[in-house]
Formats: sequence, structure tokens, C-alpha cells
Amino acid sequence: MDLTVYRVPGWEAEPGLRHGFLGRGGGNSQGAYAGLNVSFGVGDDPQAVKDNYCDMKRTVGMAGNRMVTMQQRHGDNVIDVAEPCKDAGEGDAMVTDAPGVYLGVLTADCVPIVCRARTSRGRLAAVVHAGWRGTLSGVAMKTVRHIESRYGTSPRDLWCALGPAIGPCCYEIGADVADPLIRTWGDKAAAALRESDGRTYLDLRRLNAALLAAAGVPEGRIATTGPCTACAAEEFFSYRRETKDGAGVTGRQASFIGWAETD
Ligand SMILES: [Zn+2]
Repeated sequence: MDLTVYRVPGWEAEPGLRHGFLGRGGGNSQGAYAGLNVSFGVGDDPQAVKDNYCDMKRTVGMAGNRMVTMQQRHGDNVIDVAEPCKDAGEGDAMVTDAPGVYLGVLTADCVPIVCRARTSRGRLAAVVHAGWRGTLSGVAMKTVRHIESRYGTSPRDLWCALGPAIGPCCYEIGADVADPLIRTWGDKAAAALRESDGRTYLDLRRLNAALLAAAGVPEGRIATTGPCTACAAEEFFSYRRETKDGAGVTGRQASFIGWAETD
């Protein structure tokens, strides 16, 4: 079975840019992790996960390179990555201006965000992991501000894409989530909530897109790609879906971005 890879329409035309949102299609893992699980931290067979990384890198043109991941904490720490490494430490966003450094974010419902810029200062790539807690803390917005202060890249020069994540069709939340989001983000949060039969559903991607725009990224440069992870069971791991139907045991899919050393 072929790997599932979503890309942002139009981004393929950017010379040297490598990016993609992978799903669970293809891969070597079995059972609850079936397919391309890329997390060593969810109980899957480590050899299968290693093989999955090899398959993934070969497919997306990253063979021979590392995919840098971080220990995601649902927080707002932004990590600067200067050279390829396996583990960048604890955080929920990474930024690099080094060619040949590919940044990866692992998700199963949370929003994977990838960003890129090419300016006279050089090329820059970033990833963000935004679940509801990260969204509450404004991790996407903080990443944009960090890029400006640390790298001198204006939000106006950024292109951002939000990948497959749980949608407002499936992401039912309670007041424990809705209330703090409304208190912190006001109308932006309210616009991302949907009421149906007395239940409340959250559109995490819509809220994060609004936060990116509020941070200064032009709306025309913010893209959303891929389906709802909880709806698309064949294509994507979904923590919420597996928690509803079972023990919450599932894999994680990878989203990544970086610039090739040549080009
Ligand atoms: Zn859905």
C-alpha cells in the first residue's frame, strides 16, 4: 500500500522545499498502530517504527537525512534547531534557518502546522503542534513572533499550512475547554465553535488560522489541507476516535518541512 502524503497545492513549485503531511497509509506497524506509525512512545514495536521512518524518508525525498522531532508537551515552548539531530528537546514548535534540517511534528488529531519563508536573509522553516492546550497558550502566534524577533523574518513573508486534524464534525468539547478558549481568544474562539443538539464542537484549525492571521501572516498565505483525522479512519490515526471506540491506543502520523541543501 502506498504511503498517504498530502501536500499544499502550489508549494511544490518552491525550489528546494520539502514538505508533507503523512497519514497512516503503507508502513510496517500492526494492530492498533497499523500502517505508518512514527512514534516510539505509544507502545509500538520499535523495529516497525524504524522501518516506517525509512519508508517515509525514501518516499518524501529525505533519504539520508534526519527528521528532527521534539518531545511534545501541549505547551508553547519554541525550539531553535541549528543542525540535524534526533530529538530537539521539550517543546511544541521548532524553527530552523539551516538548509538540510527537516523538522517533524507527530499528531493524532492535534493540528500540525508547517511554515516557510524565503527572504534576502535566507530560507526558514518551522513546525507547530497545536492541540487545544497549545492553542489556548497561543503556540502558533508565539512561533510567528519568535521568528520575527530571533530571525528577523516578518510575518508578512511567512507561508503557513495547517494539516490533517480533528474537525468540527467530530471534536466535541466541554465547558472545561470552551470557556478558557473564549476567555483568552474571544471572538476568534467563538467563531471556531459550533453548537449542535446542545453539544459544542471545536474547529481547531480555524482557530489556529485566525491566530496566525492575528500574528500578521497574510490570510492568503494560510492554507488548510487534508481531511478530519477522526472521519478519515483509513488514512489517519485519531486519538479521539480510538478513545471513543476503544482504549485510546493508536499511532502518530508525521508532518514535516525543510529546505534541501542544494537549490
Ligand atoms: Zn470528522
